[in-house]
Amino acid sequence: MANELILVVEDNDKNRKLARDVLAHQGYQVLEAESGEQGLQLAGERRPALILMDIHLPGIDGIETLRRLRGDAATRAIPVLAVTASAMTHDRQKILAAGFDGYQSKPISVRPFLAAVREALDRRASGA
Ligand code: MN
Repeated sequence: MANELILVVEDNDKNRKLARDVLAHQGYQVLEAESGEQGLQLAGERRPALILMDIHLPGIDGIETLRRLRGDAATRAIPVLAVTASAMTHDRQKILAAGFDGYQSKPISVRPFLAAVREALDRRASGA
């Protein structure tokens, strides 16, 4: 089954469209946000099964957006994968320490990206 609702929070049009197209091609339903604030609003309204989060965003960044998602009972349980070009080791550690459920580097590589998405959704479904 690959029809779950996924929210992509990404300010770069090209990157957001690529993620959307790759996910839609698999059969996922995709919501798009261009900022953390917009992402928070959509997450609260639509309760996606998974959120893919850019870190560098206009306004609040992806780490602050995650903190606010986790602070709200309505969105606390939604798994969130960081998707970022920050390949530096300390950035990666900071991102995982912030409480993201996983990490994918940009530009996305289709197969590992889809595998990480599926794994996060299945982990959620099994309640693990
Ligand atoms: Mn960005």
